[in-house]
Amino acid sequence: MSPFIAVFTFAIGSAVGSFLNVCISRWPNDESVVRPRSRCPKCGAGIAWFDNIPIASWLTLRGRCRGCGEPISALYPTVELTVALLWVTSIAVFGASLTGLRVALLATILFGIAVTDLKHYLIPDGFTVSGLVLAALGAVAGAWIGESGPFAGPVDAILGACVGAGAITIIGWLGEVALKREAMGFGDSTLMAMAGASLGSARALLTIFVAALLAAVVFLLIVYPIGSWRARRRGEAFEAPLVPFGVFLAPAALITLVAGYPMLNWYLDRFLR
Ligand SMILES: [Zn+2]
Repeated sequence: MSPFIAVFTFAIGSAVGSFLNVCISRWPNDESVVRPRSRCPKCGAGIAWFDNIPIASWLTLRGRCRGCGEPISALYPTVELTVALLWVTSIAVFGASLTGLRVALLATILFGIAVTDLKHYLIPDGFTVSGLVLAALGAVAGAWIGESGPFAGPVDAILGACVGAGAITIIGWLGEVALKREAMGFGDSTLMAMAGASLGSARALLTIFVAALLAAVVFLLIVYPIGSWRARRRGEAFEAPLVPFGVFLAPAALITLVAGYPMLNWYLDRFLR
């Protein structure tokens, strides 16, 4: 990857990340991502273009609003930087190609879903519908030019959307019966429809398995030790916090896109062949 392409991709990625911030903060409240223009959530002052440059503006303003001096969340530059790095990595691995662009866009949408689900406990349709449309267009365009990369072809994309959404819905029902409360939201089903359309049927199922594994590892290594330590200091009993499953499904879909077939082959070789 030439330095020029790397810098250019980083700039595009950080601008996409800046737009993703708008989606993350507005879609959960059913607000438009086009109008009105960005304002400070504390004092309502409009944000000038030179204070709205990804990553750089937050740094030069030292994380404070120019109008009222109130702190601006570090989540904004973090999202911009993460998306920029996702774009550079996608183009570095898959080339400045249709595949590179598709991986970058999918990674962006999945990251937006994970952050929104963690913050607001919901997955806006804006992410999943645009992801499903992009997956469908990508599958057709990929078949047309004969470049699908790690993505499913058109037929497997349709199957994958149905299998992914169907499987997570059934697991949600079973979870509801077992736990006697809502285990999976409708957003998880639309997320799996979109992921399945990108991954195809086999890797859609693998995504759910990888997500469950990720959730178990995060619980055992992070949530439980920190949570029980804090509870002990306060002299309370440990109570597991609710973490929405979309937070795990989203990275699992990306892991499965890149490594899903090697993982499936490893498993089949070891246990079934
Ligand atoms: Zn302000």
